[in-house]
Amino acid sequence: MSEIYTSTASGPDSGTARERSRLSFDLDVDICVVGAGLAGLTVGLEAARLGASVAVLEGRHVGWGASGHQLGTVMPGFGLPVGDLIARIGFEDTRELWALSKQGAEFVRANASEQLIPGIAISEGALEVSNVDAGDQLISRLQMLAEDFETEVEGWQVERVRDHLRTDRYFHGVYFPRAFQIDGRKYVHGLAALARRAGARIFEDTPVVSIDSSGIRKRIVTPSARLRASHIVLAGNVHLGAPLRRLSETLLPVWRYAAITAPLGERLAETIAFKGSVTDTDGIDHFRIVDGDRLMWASPETTWDARPTRFASAIARRIRTVFPRLGPVEIAEVWGGAVGETVHGMPQIGQLRKGLWVASGFGRQGLNTTAMAGQLIARSILWGDERWRLFSPFELVWAGGSTGRVAGHVIGMWGRGSAAAAGALARYRERVRKQERIREARLAEANRQAGTRPPRPRPQPGRPRPERARPDRARPEGSPPPAVANPGGSEGAS
Ligand SMILES: Cc1cc2nc3c(=O)[nH]c(=O)nc-3n(C[C@H](O)[C@H](O)[C@H](O)COP(=O)(O)OP(=O)(O)OC[C@H]3O[C@@H](n4cnc5c(N)ncnc54)[C@H](O)[C@@H]3O)c2cc1C
Repeated sequence: MSEIYTSTASGPDSGTARERSRLSFDLDVDICVVGAGLAGLTVGLEAARLGASVAVLEGRHVGWGASGHQLGTVMPGFGLPVGDLIARIGFEDTRELWALSKQGAEFVRANASEQLIPGIAISEGALEVSNVDAGDQLISRLQMLAEDFETEVEGWQVERVRDHLRTDRYFHGVYFPRAFQIDGRKYVHGLAALARRAGARIFEDTPVVSIDSSGIRKRIVTPSARLRASHIVLAGNVHLGAPLRRLSETLLPVWRYAAITAPLGERLAETIAFKGSVTDTDGIDHFRIVDGDRLMWASPETTWDARPTRFASAIARRIRTVFPRLGPVEIAEVWGGAVGETVHGMPQIGQLRKGLWVASGFGRQGLNTTAMAGQLIARSILWGDERWRLFSPFELVWAGGSTGRVAGHVIGMWGRGSAAAAGALARYRERVRKQERIREARLAEANRQAGTRPPRPRPQPGRPRPERARPDRARPEGSPPPAVANPGGSEGAS
């Protein structure tokens, strides 16, 4: 058995082994995508599948950026904790965004099949472990994810976590049985192959040096060709540069480094019995076993570009700190990539002006979120699906200075767009609240007549959550069954 992992080596489908095609002639397309990372390729694939003519322009080669260096863990949600999201945009919109993020993960699952991408080596389950003993917080997180966000989760008591991970560093855990992992590098090249098969044209060694997005037909300039397109999608992450420098400046580049150990033999299985991905709640460590007895581990971060090999010994030390019983570990390979972090922690997905789109800022959780962005943008362009507007409250904020500083003219347009969208959302929420009040009055009356109590209120941002019953699957294993708070009440039936 040989599980494949995200390797930095050149595979047969990587940009180095395959002859790259550079754009050297002028072209007219419906959609021009800048950047062939996960975001750009997913937009390209989805748009081509929906029948658009698509050109993806990549300055280096497919997967050159973070996308070719990720660990392949696919989880629901965003980098921003769900509680913060609720505080920022309210409960209902958070639920919608969460559902979209789950759809993004399902998109990856559907495309990362052995049939579509041979050797993708999908495996199930991810465990999020806590660095502190905070069982209470775990229970409320489980409740929220399971009940409010319809996500399959299981609580693990400290003993169970430590049965699977022999260290006293971790306490409780949240197990996501529907999360999964794939060979991340194979996935990005597989996406490119699927996009080509669907009709998208991908040109490498083709940096976009400028764009003119003012007309209906937009102009894109590369060193040896010009394109015209009705839509431009900027998916260049922190590297975008010249085409819209102010957009790049809304992202804080964070370089994350990862390594793979030499084979560790029996001692690895004796120390780590969990087969899926492990992340900690502080976002420090992220690891899993690959190839039977090797450990793949992402840990240190810098805000400057450094040679990844410099971090080999730091990663080895970190592994030993967390798992002292492993003893010394030898690092076989180290790599790194720049992720783009936004000031507010949410991805940038939306339309800057008519026909000019942005898909970036996916941070450390890019697999499900880029998939979601690709679907949202392609469907908006081709089908008029407007759900990308759920991202409008997350403005483009300059990442180089104090929070809230807005970066220039184009960004200002986004700001105005988002203010309008925020207004529309506020009005929408107001309508929903009114309907909810009517529904609650009706329900209270029905309950009064039936002799039952009203349903639990929806949590409001910033307010403590009410005590409530919770299903067994969301209860930490071994803990006593919860008291039923509302035995006769109906759950939201109208
Ligand atoms: C070590 C590490 C581990 C990670 N592990 C995971 C994980 O397990 N799960 C997960 O969900 N996420 C993970 N991530 C995060 C994930 O990799 C990123 O969020 C995601 O890859 C971002 O994709 P992107 O397409 O936005 O950017 P990129 O991959 O950076 O792609 C942008 C592309 O645009 C091109 N480009 C830029 N400007 C231009 C231009 N002007 N003209 C032409 N081309 C241009 C660049 O060359 C680049 O190829 C990890 C990241 C790192 C670094």
